[in-house]
Amino acid sequence: MQLEKQLQDTSLKLYEKTLKDLTKEQVYTVLLAVVKDMLEDKEEISGERKLYYFSAEFLIGKLMSNNLINLGIRKEVRDILAENGFDLAEIEEIEAEPSLGNGGLGRLAACFLDSIATLNLPGDGVGLNYHLGLFKQKFENEKQFETPDYWIDDHSWLNKTRKSYLVEFKDFAIKSTLYDIDVIGYHGKKNKLHLFDIGSVDESIVHDGIQFDKDNILKNLTLFLYPDDSDDAGRKLRIYQQYFMVSNGAQMILEDLKRRHKDLREMHKYVAIQINDTHPSMVIPELIRLLMKEGLTMKEAIHTVQLTCAYTNHTILAEALEKWPLSYLEEVVPQLVPIIEALDAVAAIRSDNPKVAIIDNDKLVHMAHMDIHFGYSINGVAAIHTKILEETELHDFYELYPSKFNNKTNGITFRRWLMDCNEELTDFIDSLIGEGYKANAEELKGLLKYTEDKDVLKKLLAIKELKKKQLAQYVYNKEGVKLDTDAIFDVQIKRLHEYKRQQMNVLYIIYQYLQIKAGKLPAHPITCIFGAKAAPAYVIAKDIIHAILTLSNIINNDPEVSPYLKVVMVENYNVTYAEKLIPAADLSEQISLASKEASGTGNMKLMLNGAVTLGTDDGANVEIHQLVGDDNIYIFGADSDTVIKHYENADYHPADLLATDKELQEVVDFLVGEEMRKAGDPASLERLHHELTTKDWFMTLLDVKDYIKTKEQAIKDYKEREVWARKMLVNIAEAGFFSSDRTIAQYNEDIWKL
Ligand SMILES: *Cc1c(COP(=O)(O)O)cnc(C)c1O
Repeated sequence: MQLEKQLQDTSLKLYEKTLKDLTKEQVYTVLLAVVKDMLEDKEEISGERKLYYFSAEFLIGKLMSNNLINLGIRKEVRDILAENGFDLAEIEEIEAEPSLGNGGLGRLAACFLDSIATLNLPGDGVGLNYHLGLFKQKFENEKQFETPDYWIDDHSWLNKTRKSYLVEFKDFAIKSTLYDIDVIGYHGKKNKLHLFDIGSVDESIVHDGIQFDKDNILKNLTLFLYPDDSDDAGRKLRIYQQYFMVSNGAQMILEDLKRRHKDLREMHKYVAIQINDTHPSMVIPELIRLLMKEGLTMKEAIHTVQLTCAYTNHTILAEALEKWPLSYLEEVVPQLVPIIEALDAVAAIRSDNPKVAIIDNDKLVHMAHMDIHFGYSINGVAAIHTKILEETELHDFYELYPSKFNNKTNGITFRRWLMDCNEELTDFIDSLIGEGYKANAEELKGLLKYTEDKDVLKKLLAIKELKKKQLAQYVYNKEGVKLDTDAIFDVQIKRLHEYKRQQMNVLYIIYQYLQIKAGKLPAHPITCIFGAKAAPAYVIAKDIIHAILTLSNIINNDPEVSPYLKVVMVENYNVTYAEKLIPAADLSEQISLASKEASGTGNMKLMLNGAVTLGTDDGANVEIHQLVGDDNIYIFGADSDTVIKHYENADYHPADLLATDKELQEVVDFLVGEEMRKAGDPASLERLHHELTTKDWFMTLLDVKDYIKTKEQAIKDYKEREVWARKMLVNIAEAGFFSSDRTIAQYNEDIWKL
């Protein structure tokens, strides 16, 4: 009643009409206003000690549906809208997805904010308000193009605040503006996501896709996430952005402590800062600098900062560990340079091993090294990842600070990745085991008592079928491609990167195509679905996209092949698309080269929705494998020890494998054969072929045969519907461990102690 009245009143106020006479867009605006008011009225979570989660990315996705769920009013809103002739799902479609993240790391930050609030812990996010986000992906002529992603509408979840700080750079200073987004816990109170911005950003300087003047900081500072860093100006822009983020965050934290009359020497008693990957690492020297301005000695400042900051490592890929030339820092933020030099000197006293220096002999500042020396906790994001950090990548640091290292296996919020995206499955689980699992995910294990219940297994298959039909409709509307829902939906959705090995999936598709052409049909029709953005300057990644789209063209238009094999790459893969794809997936492709995927979280989302994993023993796949057992997962490929040894010995050569394997040679050469060259861009295809046959840094050809064999087995098994449904059920039942509520409880227990 109350809610209906609020909606009607707001409708009259904004449009002088009753709800039923509004357009869908107007209904969305009304709903947004009402829900924002409700959030505004919610109590903020408070406590003596507060967490600040610093991250360059927050891939939060659309917020309406999640906020309705967490406020506990989704069903009520749906009914009210239905009475007025509207479908809530259609209204929710209108919201633009905030483009504030790139992939897993940013999505993790978003899941964490949901769980922190749900566990009633005081913890805010700190980041930047990128006006044009990462980029919007467009396909033209089977190639990726980038355009600006204009996601900020007149009406959005952003609340402009009165907070503003002065951030000084070498040649000028900028006053910030702060936008907050309320983050509501499941049936709980709220925290905030703080997104800093400047008023002078000018979207009109962007031209020809996502090109812009990289030197004009006043106009470009918060335009894009991860601006192209292939030249000096781009690299410096990233430093401008990073410093702007952390200086604002640090000033906000100190202001709050002063307001609370706390002794800044004991900052660590009241504040915990989690540094999400190295982009926010400058918060360490910046806090030291600001505390010294407040009268602390350097020693005092280092002492408390060191007990405040904790660092999460997300990758062992060397190129992703940021190193900034000291000279760039001199040009952008000279005030930090003496602090960083002092920290380097302290580190040098602790260890004279040059491999752990903050500033190396080439005058590069290793941001992760600063985090490890001057943070009190270093965590990896899955058991195998943390082990590799300790034993290999960060071994020298581990010897120096063994007690700082700990593992926090990633998680996902079930509110978004089950309740929101798969209501049918949620309701079915509710009917079997009650709703307790929504707050205590381990209760999903209760599903295990149904593994022999034929009705339950049938219903599970029926729900999957329904989600596949819904996806097929969505894909048809968006991409104009018809999907056959009887086929296996084989899904690989994640950023495009050679280590994630979409190229291996490409080789499988070629193999299958050649088989069908030779009259050997697969055990069951298969539809290979991809979603992936490639970094704009990552040439080989774009070549892989080109190969997928070209193959898709050839295969889908070949009446001899397409009844058995289809290939679809969806455009502009993002959270919204993920929410449609994941519930419809049968097979979850997690095929990174063992040791390279820190954790993965897509693997968890897919498992929770009843997809069976086809993967390597890498990242969190290892833990999935342990939980579900050999019968409920398809594991293949070289293990991480083998891979690490190959790198150490530099003894992997793709040419050796090709020389002794005609079938493999034929599959790989198809990339540059007649058909592909005619349908695609020969230069791009040749570059990819050359890379695979001469370098293949991520050892695709080492694993591809085992991959093909294992995938063929999965396709055969899929035909045994009841056996397959049991695998689905076990995966869902064992997914409880991957709730981000568990992850956050562990962060709090071991690191934050809020
Ligand atoms: C979960 C998620 C990711 C991470 O996927 P991985 O398979 O773990 O790399 C990337 N993008 C989006 C949109 C996601 O939702």
